[in-house]
Amino acid sequence: MTRTPLKNDLDGYEVWFVTGSQNLYGEETLKQVAEQSQGVVEGLAGLPVKIVWKPVLKDSDSIRRMALEVNGRDDVIGVIAWMHTFSPAKMWIAGLDALQKPLLHLHTQANVELPWNDIDFDFMNLNQAAHGDREFGYIQTRLGVARKTVVGHVSNPAVRQQIEDWERAAAGWTAARTLKLARFGDNMRFVAVTEGDKTEAELRFGVQVNTWGVNELVEAVAQASDADIDALVQEYIDSYEVVEELLPGGARHQSLRDGAAIELGLRSFLEEGGFGAFTTSFEDLGALKQLPGLAVQRLMAEGYGFGAEGDWKTAILVRVANVMGAGLPGGASLMEDYTYDLVPGNERILGAHMLEVSPSLTTAKPRLEIHELGIGGKEDPVRLVFTADPGPALVVALSDMRDRFRLTANVVENVEAPDLPKLPVGRAVWKPAPDFATSAACWLAAGAAHHTVMTTAVGIEVFRDFAEMAKTELVVIDEDTTVRGFQSELRWNQAYYRLAQGI
Ligand code: MN
Repeated sequence: MTRTPLKNDLDGYEVWFVTGSQNLYGEETLKQVAEQSQGVVEGLAGLPVKIVWKPVLKDSDSIRRMALEVNGRDDVIGVIAWMHTFSPAKMWIAGLDALQKPLLHLHTQANVELPWNDIDFDFMNLNQAAHGDREFGYIQTRLGVARKTVVGHVSNPAVRQQIEDWERAAAGWTAARTLKLARFGDNMRFVAVTEGDKTEAELRFGVQVNTWGVNELVEAVAQASDADIDALVQEYIDSYEVVEELLPGGARHQSLRDGAAIELGLRSFLEEGGFGAFTTSFEDLGALKQLPGLAVQRLMAEGYGFGAEGDWKTAILVRVANVMGAGLPGGASLMEDYTYDLVPGNERILGAHMLEVSPSLTTAKPRLEIHELGIGGKEDPVRLVFTADPGPALVVALSDMRDRFRLTANVVENVEAPDLPKLPVGRAVWKPAPDFATSAACWLAAGAAHHTVMTTAVGIEVFRDFAEMAKTELVVIDEDTTVRGFQSELRWNQAYYRLAQGI
């Protein structure tokens, strides 16, 4: 059986940089256009996804062919377009109509300062993005093309950051378009928010969501060899602070071996099926000895998506956030809003899950422990215990609103947690923007879930770009949010997204 290790980096991806012009200008000017656009690409060197310069586009047919080539190339995850000169936009209709990859319109210029004393009309003719890009903006808007517009010179760090955010979103979008998600069992019984339209999810996000009987996973777990279990136990001992009773010779060492077997079985199942995300259900564990805790935590930290209780929508978000944050400090995890500290003026949210929080949220060495779990009716599960690092974070939920999906995001700040000596799970403590009451009221108004992805690697701009690529509603709760304004936005969006679907 072939096994496909998970891709969790941005290596091998390209973004194409295309420059629009026309034949009217003559050879000499077009040569300058080519040189200066290459200079812009050189100015963008070092971004996480390599930007590849392409010859200047001067007519409809070459533009359309460029779009078709990009569509056919799995490694080309997006296109950056700049109209250095004037590229009559009817030339772009067929190409933009055909393009199926994310588009960034870079509204820039070769020079920063104008050479006021030397400007002649040749300079004006060459450096006219101010006017060429307006023509391009018109046709994009007229055609309803989803895109990101970035304005400014490439030497400006804010411009680079916006392009990097878009590149990361494009990588997340690519990961979603190719994602196969395995569900072991169905959703938790009677739960509404984890339900959803899996056919629509494949159309909208490209994700294939399918279910396997949990005993197929049990069979994979049974295949784990003693030697592989030994090696994995040693890896645990090297990576974590393992409690005495779980160590070799300890009273409960067998439970750690059982946990290792679950990890080996899960990994082989996922790699053999080419899956990048999965769900479990504590109501449907078949012959598994424990609810998968440690294994799920470690797989999320490697880049897999995961949702508990059959929550495939959150599993998609965890996978996408992991890819978008590739190479950055921090990580992404399933998170659940659990309980509140309601001290006025210092309200905090304590988030955790039964077991399944990714250790990528901490830079400290997690403790590997075993404790009773009242839920699921299985043996006590092994799990990693830690608190997420303080710092900026984002929680994002995905809800099925019947006629569409809605992403709801809250900008939050993870804070130092008090000691939690009797809470043996991975957890985070945070303060939401703009304040607790506004955040919670807006979250509830949006119908956003109790499960989220928490990312400490990427910010809201990356998710904004992702939502644009996915043509999916995103409502954001941040420092500028008010309850009244947010409720109005929800109502407007309700009308907009229904009309935008057409009749
Ligand atoms: Mn849950």
